[in-house]
Amino acid sequence: MIWPRACEVCGRPADRPGRHVCSDCLNRIPFVAQDGCCSVCGRSVEGLAGEYLCEDCSKRDRPRFDRAGSAIRYEAEAREMVNRYKSHQALWLRDDFADWLEAAARARFDVAAIDAVMPMPVTLWHRIDRGYNQSAYLARELARRIDRRCEEGVLRRCGNPRRQAGLAEEERMENAKGTFAARRAERVRGRTVLVVDDIMTTGATLSDCARALKEAGAWRVWCLTVARSIRA
Ligand SMILES: [Zn+2]
Ligand SMILES: [Zn+2]
Repeated sequence: MIWPRACEVCGRPADRPGRHVCSDCLNRIPFVAQDGCCSVCGRSVEGLAGEYLCEDCSKRDRPRFDRAGSAIRYEAEAREMVNRYKSHQALWLRDDFADWLEAAARARFDVAAIDAVMPMPVTLWHRIDRGYNQSAYLARELARRIDRRCEEGVLRRCGNPRRQAGLAEEERMENAKGTFAARRAERVRGRTVLVVDDIMTTGATLSDCARALKEAGAWRVWCLTVARSIRA
């Protein structure tokens, strides 16, 4: 693979060795403020400081993960970068993303308490189509940097669920359930697991991952994504 030497954002020469966002553009990346956000999902509300519980996480059907965080906000150029990475057109961004993930992981979690880092698994179709999982690169690199084990193949997607559209509320819940399964429960039981993915939007997918891991006996499930799409 030929790696470009131009900044992924502005196109001028990249001035940081091995990185693809120049220092000028780095200053404009919309990083997530790690103080002043929901203690569970990590959503920040303007004007609120410290940790609190957001409206969604105060409900009874709150997310099944215990804590989630993200490195950058999914907006403007950052959004385009994440999309290019996701569609495999800019895989060289993984080192820049790993820098940001590592900083967010250290700010948001007690990284020494993490027993295993796991990538969000891709669908079978994705594996056939693209041949690999872009979240696995990030999970492996993050695990290496924080000196934790990366475990792939424990968390699996089991088949494609039916489309949610047209299903009644109860069917939807049943349908969303069972999208993920955790194999080799002995790798999960009693452990603190960090699931890594590229984008978090509603958190429903990460929540379903967390459900599968909890059913397999995980003690705590934490989630970390490169980008966070903030709903209005
Ligand atoms: Zn630049
Ligand atoms: Zn929340």
